[in-house]
This record gives sequence, structure tokens and C-alpha cells, in this order.
Amino acid sequence: MSDAMPERFDLNRYQQEAARTGGSDLKPENREKGIQCAALGLCGEAGEVADLIKKAVHHRAPMNEAALKKEAGDVLWYIAHLCNVMGWDLRDVAEGNVAKLRTRYPDGFNTADSIARRDVAPVAQWQTSDAHGTVEVSVRLPR
Ligand SMILES: [Mg+2]
Repeated sequence: MSDAMPERFDLNRYQQEAARTGGSDLKPENREKGIQCAALGLCGEAGEVADLIKKAVHHRAPMNEAALKKEAGDVLWYIAHLCNVMGWDLRDVAEGNVAKLRTRYPDGFNTADSIARRDVAPVAQWQTSDAHGTVEVSVRLPR
């Protein structure tokens, strides 16, 4: 028996662990129920994160970092659950997000890049005018 630290989770291993407690939502015939559970659960857990922040900011209570970390884990579980229900690889989702953010913010976050949205291409632009003035309309789709 080794005293070495256990292997740290990678995203795929985490996703497999989340599936262990995914229940009947993971059966193909329950896909719609699973999507609903994942979406509602994700909102609920994000709400728990928001509540802890609210208590710290608006009630001036001490930040409960241990609870916040635990709730962040609950949010992650529902993201993994959504991926399991949808048949997505959590690592692919993470890598896609990193690629999007590297395109959108090549030098790290800044407001100009946030507005420019380099990761989405304009597909149509036009001007329209009425009695209130002229507006420029731009419709974009993800690249
Ligand atoms: Mg929770």
C-alpha cells in the first residue's frame, strides 16, 4: 500500500464519477427528463452560489469559502450530468470553451474585445431608419 497522493481527477474521470449518481436520467428513454433535471439543478446550485455571495456582500457576513467551494462542486456535477445526458464529452466542452475564449480574448479579458466578439462572425449587416432615427443592425452566428 502506498502513501502517495491519489491520482487527481481529470475531467473525463470526473464525468464518469458524476454518471455513477446520475440515476435513471441517463437512460436513453429518459433523455428529456434528464435535460430538465440538469438545467433546473444547475440553476438551483448556481442560486446557492449566488446566495453565499449575497450574504457576504449585502449582509456583510464573513465569506464562507468552504461552503462556496462545495456549491461550486455541485454546479460542476450538474454540468457533468448535462454532458452525460446529452452524450457529450466534458473535456470537449471544456476545450471548446477555452478555444472560444482564446479567440475572443487573445490577450486576456478587456472590454474592447468583449464588445468585438471575434469568435462570432457577422452574417448580415444593414441600416434601418424611421422617424426616431437610424440604427445599424448586425446579425451574428457562432463561427
Ligand atoms: Mg448545493
